[in-house]
Amino acid sequence: MAKPIIAIVGRPNVGKSTLFNKLVGQRLSIVKDTPGVTRDRIYSPCEWRGKEVMLVDTGGIEPYSNDVILSQMRRQAQLAIESADVIVLVTDLRTGVTANDQEVASMLLKSGKPVVLCVNKVDTIGDVPPEYYEFYNLGLGDPIPVSSVHGHGTGDLLDACFEHIDFENREEYDEEYIKVAIIGKPNVGKSSLVNRMTGQERAIVSNIAGTTRDATDSILENEHGKYVLIDTAGIRRKSRVDDDIEKYSVLRAYMAVDRADVCLIVIDATEGFTEQDSKVAGYAHEQGKASIVVINKWDAVEKDGKTMDEYRKKLENDFSFMSYVPFIFISALTGQRVDKLYDLINYVCEQNARRISTGMLNDMLAYATARVQPPSDKGKRLRLFYITQASTKPPAFVIFCNSLDLFHFSYQRYLENQIRETFGLDGTPIRIIPRERG
Ligand code: GDP
Ligand code: GDP
Repeated sequence: MAKPIIAIVGRPNVGKSTLFNKLVGQRLSIVKDTPGVTRDRIYSPCEWRGKEVMLVDTGGIEPYSNDVILSQMRRQAQLAIESADVIVLVTDLRTGVTANDQEVASMLLKSGKPVVLCVNKVDTIGDVPPEYYEFYNLGLGDPIPVSSVHGHGTGDLLDACFEHIDFENREEYDEEYIKVAIIGKPNVGKSSLVNRMTGQERAIVSNIAGTTRDATDSILENEHGKYVLIDTAGIRRKSRVDDDIEKYSVLRAYMAVDRADVCLIVIDATEGFTEQDSKVAGYAHEQGKASIVVINKWDAVEKDGKTMDEYRKKLENDFSFMSYVPFIFISALTGQRVDKLYDLINYVCEQNARRISTGMLNDMLAYATARVQPPSDKGKRLRLFYITQASTKPPAFVIFCNSLDLFHFSYQRYLENQIRETFGLDGTPIRIIPRERG
C-alpha cells in the first residue's frame, strides 16, 4: 500500500528544504548496494507517531530563477495538488505575507486539497510575535508557528497534517487488481502502450476510480486478469508540466513505483538504456517491487538473427544490479508480443508475493553450505543455523548465524543466488536479513 504523501510548497528561501530535512531527520538513507541510485533530496519517508508518510520538497525539483519564480511555484503547487494527500504551504515570518504567497494560497484553496499553513522562522519560544497574526489573511485557517532550524513546532505541524490523513482506508483498489506502473523517459511509448493494452475497454471501466489521485489510472479487465495501469505520461500531459524538466518526471515515476505491484521500465529500442532508467529502476529495486524491462519500438529496429541476443546481452550488463529482471521486446505500435506481457506481469507479481516453506528453505541452506563452505576468520567459522521467510512483497529471508561479522556480503550474495537457483523468484528483488543468535 502506498504511503500518504505530504508535499511542501512555498516561495524560495522561506525554509522549505530546511523543514524537509528536519522532518526527515535521520531517515534519509540511500541504499548503498544499488549503483546508479543517487536520490535527490526531495522525496523521502518521514516517520511520526509510529506512522510513515512520504515527504516531497517541491522547491527542490528545479533551481529557482528569478524571472519565473511565480510560474515555477504554480508548477510545483500543481504537482502537489495532483499527487499529495496533504499540502504544507510554508511562509516566512520575517517577510510577512507576500503577493506570491497569496497567489499560491488561493490556488491551493481552489483545489480542495487539505492544506496546512506553516509560518516558519518563528525562532522564539513562548508567545507568538504579533506579525504571526497577519498570516490568517491567507484564509487557510490557523497558521502553525515553526522554527525549522531549531525544530520547534514541527510536531504540531505533523499532527495537523496527520489529521487530514486516513491511515486505515487507503487502499484504492481491490487486491485482485495488479497495479502496474508504466515508467520511462518521455517518448519511449508509455501512452502508446497503455492505449494498446486498454484498447476500447478504457472508456467503459475508467469510472471505477474514485479519488482525484487516480485520475490517470486506467482500469483494465481481460482474459489475463484485472489490472490498474498507472500511466506516468498521462499525469504529465494532464498537468501541462514542461516535459523537459527531467526531475519532475523522475519524481512522478518514484510516486508511481510506490503505488505499484509491478513496474514496467519502458525503454525505446532505438535509443537504448539511459541514466534516468537506472535511477528509476534502482528505486523500484530498492522499494522491493517486481519489475520488467520492456523494450518498446522493436518494430523500428533493423534486425538479423542475432539482434535480440546482442541487445539482451547489453541490457543484462546495464541492469546488472537487478539481474533477476526479465526483458521483453514489444511494439506498442503493432501490438507485437503485448499479449505476452500480461503473462509476464502476472508471473513476476506472483513471484514478488511468493511464500516458501521453512522446510524447503532449510534443505536449500544445507545443500548450499555443503557445496561452498561458509567463510572463516582467525579460526572461527561462520555457521548458519536456520533460514525462514519473514515477509513477502518482496520475499525476505531471515538467516540465523553465529556471527554477523563473518557473514560477509559475498556469502550473502552466494546464498541469494542459491535461493534464486532453487526457487526461481524471477522479476522480484529479495532480501536477506542476517541475525545473530546467541
Ligand atoms: P527554501 O528555498 O524554501 O528551501 O529555503 P531554505 O531551506 O534553503 O532556507 C532559506 C534560508 O532560511 C536559509 O538560510 C535557512 O538557514 C534559513 N532558515 C530556514 N528555516 C529557518 C528558521 O526556522 N529560522 C531561521 N532563523 N532561519 C531559517
Ligand atoms: P510517451 O511519452 O512515453 O508516452 O510516448 P508516446 O506513447 O507518446 O510515444 C512517443 C512516440 O513514439 C509517438 O510518436 C509514438 O507513435 C511512437 N511510438 C510508440 N510506440 C511505438 C512503437 O512500438 N514503435 C514505433 N515505431 N513507434 C512507437
